[in-house]
Amino acid sequence: MIILPRQKTAIHVQLEVLTPRISPLDPLYDLLTENLRREQSGYKGEQSLDYYYRHIVKQPLFLHGLRIKDKKGSDFFQIDTLMIFSNFILIVEVKNYTGSLIYQVETGLLTRKRNNGELDRFDDPRAQVEMQRSRLQRYLDRSEIPIYTVVVFANQNCMLQINGTQPNFLLRERLPQHISQLLSNHSNTANYQAESLQLANQLRDSHQPSNATVVEKYRIHRKAIRNGVWCTSCKRVFMIRKQRSWHCPSCFHKDSDASIRALQEYKIIFGNEITNQLAREFLNLESRKTATRLLQKANFKVIGKNKGVKYILK
Ligand SMILES: [Zn+2]
Repeated sequence: MIILPRQKTAIHVQLEVLTPRISPLDPLYDLLTENLRREQSGYKGEQSLDYYYRHIVKQPLFLHGLRIKDKKGSDFFQIDTLMIFSNFILIVEVKNYTGSLIYQVETGLLTRKRNNGELDRFDDPRAQVEMQRSRLQRYLDRSEIPIYTVVVFANQNCMLQINGTQPNFLLRERLPQHISQLLSNHSNTANYQAESLQLANQLRDSHQPSNATVVEKYRIHRKAIRNGVWCTSCKRVFMIRKQRSWHCPSCFHKDSDASIRALQEYKIIFGNEITNQLAREFLNLESRKTATRLLQKANFKVIGKNKGVKYILK
């Protein structure tokens, strides 16, 4: 049963909307594109595990992307997938790396050899999950339910070589089998059936998604963000306003509601409040009247009066 469904992070959603609006000539463009690629790859890797999750013999309670505040200090920790069984908890850390990876168990060094012989180095996933385990343990306080961890390499194009013994690093195909083994090891141990659902709900209620914004994180200047209404068909060029509708100069698609989609993008990037002037700027409109008509047509809630009128985007 899924207690907390998987969702794209706010940063992921913002990068998707924002990156196409940044000029490829902007110095930030490559960085944003690379970060978007990473977010998409991580998300895809996690999604690809759903098939294997369905093959787990006894279905646990699933919490995806759980982010909770550490009891010690003020920072947060995040778990890709948390599975709560009646006898134990399993933390799943998902890695979507491709290529030839080598992990040195003794030092925790994880490297990837590129075709040109150069090495990429990644953080030690073992240290990462161990940290998550101790923080979750602290969060659960006196609970005695055992917590296990596993690192799953989700990408089919990943060659994993482990130097030493590390039974908790798996290629994705091995996950159901690994869990079957844990279940059979626990067939006669203490059962926390009643506690587990309560615990899952408690964790879900403590979940606090990050409210970081890409604009603040990368200090993106407003001028660097291109204004316009993307064509709702080809999605490649900005549409032109004429004869009370939006027209695409490239594929000739016509859509009178295209600005609603654009305003949803505005909301994702800048938040849910907009004024007539900000809307005109973002939609590339000259006429105050047209902007008013479009904002009213979309049925947004209005706050304030006269010149101070603001619309709450939904
Ligand atoms: Zn078009």
